Amino acid sequence: MTDGTQDEFIKSVFGVDVAKLRADGANATVDIGGDASGRVSRRQPHRPVPPRVAQAPGPTEDQMKEMVQIMKIRDGITVTFDVAAEDKAFGAAILAVNADRHANPFDPAKFQADLKTLKGATDRLKAAADKVPLKARQKSRDDLLKRIADLNTAGKLDDLTKIPPQQKAQMIDDLLGAGEPNPDQRMNLELLYVQTPLDSGFETADKKHQQETADKLKGDKDLIAARQNWKNLDPKNKAQDSAKMLTSLQRIADAQSDTFGIKHVPVVDDSKKIPKGDFALFSDDDDKIYVDLQKQGMNDFAAASEAVLHENAHHWQHELVKKLEAKQLKPTDPLFNEARLFQANERRPGGYIKPPPDPKKDDQAQMDEIAYERQPVELHAIKAGKETAQLLDAALQAASPSPPPATGGQGSNATTPPPAKRSP
Ligand SMILES: [Zn+2]
Repeated sequence: MTDGTQDEFIKSVFGVDVAKLRADGANATVDIGGDASGRVSRRQPHRPVPPRVAQAPGPTEDQMKEMVQIMKIRDGITVTFDVAAEDKAFGAAILAVNADRHANPFDPAKFQADLKTLKGATDRLKAAADKVPLKARQKSRDDLLKRIADLNTAGKLDDLTKIPPQQKAQMIDDLLGAGEPNPDQRMNLELLYVQTPLDSGFETADKKHQQETADKLKGDKDLIAARQNWKNLDPKNKAQDSAKMLTSLQRIADAQSDTFGIKHVPVVDDSKKIPKGDFALFSDDDDKIYVDLQKQGMNDFAAASEAVLHENAHHWQHELVKKLEAKQLKPTDPLFNEARLFQANERRPGGYIKPPPDPKKDDQAQMDEIAYERQPVELHAIKAGKETAQLLDAALQAASPSPPPATGGQGSNATTPPPAKRSP
């Protein structure tokens, strides 16, 4: 809200017409002395018509003024990753107030209580934002942008690949530290991501995880049977088939969680939670893996397990960042460097690159797509999902009692190319 559209924003969120409030001295009651065209209505001579009617149930004038004041404060704040939690609380508080406004019947007590919560959230956001050394952050960012531009001029952008992970993470922080990047800054962030390989110590450790997860599951009779029968399951029409698929996917996620040493999280079939075009998602809001069993691709065992292994890799990333922030990860830990990159990549706002709706639209969309796949959290999750699923599929196939009968030339265990994962 720094582009002069504040009034429109307030209007859309609160339904408060600020321009009108300013114009008529914040008098929000409706004068019905005339009709909509401004024409004065005929009045019966002996029945005085009151010039104003009572407002429809809703916020009072003072409450509306307070909302406008809150939005003014919010408008003056630059949200950086330091205040992401406070900003999230502010967003939730706004949603609650907005829902109250449109509730039928209107509940004045609830509105007042939620407005108070919003006021508190605003104060906390402002207090936290005031502590961020914005000027110094802007300087670090601009210095970095110049450094990248100089490398570009010298034709040495590839040198970025050689920068050690800790320094690279600091560079990402520098790009994000003064608030959400503008398009040019974002392009530089994407450039950094594309030039950031997985940390070698982390990669070696995670290769072991992949094998360990497959080994944990290779003798699992239920999973062997489920894999063989997967193509015959029909989650569209049969609730018991969805349940069977979920049981298997849960087993796979749990084995991987045990390998990572993190808690089990539920695998839930709920297409509404998943953005269009995706078929799985890890939500760090409620620590759940959401899948859409009816999406094409999920009828392939290897692809479905890949989706869950990918999302659970994101779950592990979140846990690693938590450990890092709680100082429970030593700098000598082989996971430390990559965890630091995950932390920088997950900064909000601006750290995570979302996949473009149409990657082929133009050069920018193509760049976004590449950066999406190469940013640290996706680079790892894509690899972990794909490679673990392949190891698992091969292990289960090797343990299958007998090859399924060939039908029409193609074995029913044919593995279709795994779908791209597009969820954070
Ligand atoms: Zn992902």
